[in-house]
Amino acid sequence: MSKRIGLFGGTFDPVHYGHVALVNSFLESHKIDELWVLLTPVPPHKQDKEHASFDDRKHMLNLAFKNDNRVSINTVERDLPKPSYTIRTLRHLLKEHQSVKFYLCIGEDSLANFDKWKDHRDILDMCELLVAERPDVSHEHVDKEIMNKVHFVEHKPVEVSSTSIRSLISDGKSVKHLLTPEVYKYIMANNLYQ
Ligand code: ATP
Repeated sequence: MSKRIGLFGGTFDPVHYGHVALVNSFLESHKIDELWVLLTPVPPHKQDKEHASFDDRKHMLNLAFKNDNRVSINTVERDLPKPSYTIRTLRHLLKEHQSVKFYLCIGEDSLANFDKWKDHRDILDMCELLVAERPDVSHEHVDKEIMNKVHFVEHKPVEVSSTSIRSLISDGKSVKHLLTPEVYKYIMANNLYQ
């Protein structure tokens, strides 16, 4: 059987316990053998001085997942054309790893608008979808052709976002409980998001 690899993309600015919990749920589903975290460059129009650089975000991801050998951090999107469309990344990865079966890992909120993703039908020809359940989101209106490729994964969302962490830090509030200890230390030592 070919190796089953989950792809989980984001800007991770910074990576937090919500992401860690999600990665664990994808892996614990046993639908995949490994998970690659795809670090997306922030589009130039969104990059401002409060946000962390690609290298800082990569470093924080390495710290957050360093004890889990099923997880690796993939930075291929840094060198691919921008914006980083999933279809383009997938085509590139499939060319490089022909014997692998890819599963795109997304939340149920993203499933609701998956039909708006660039070339979503082509994406479904190349991989299947692992979708983390969210109690507050419905998938009733999602097309059948998309649902045929979906595997649901049980998940209890942790209420946190990178946006809220950045604004808590810039307001001088504590974020220690929202990040792994090493990521927290790295942010403080490097004065990120101040
Ligand atoms: P931002 O607040 O900067 O938009 P974010 O916290 O949503 O960031 P992303 O890097 O955009 O983080 O997240 C990558 C993926 O993780 C996205 O698909 C997003 O929906 C999902 N995600 C982020 N936070 C959570 C959470 N707390 N629970 C479940 N899924 C999450």
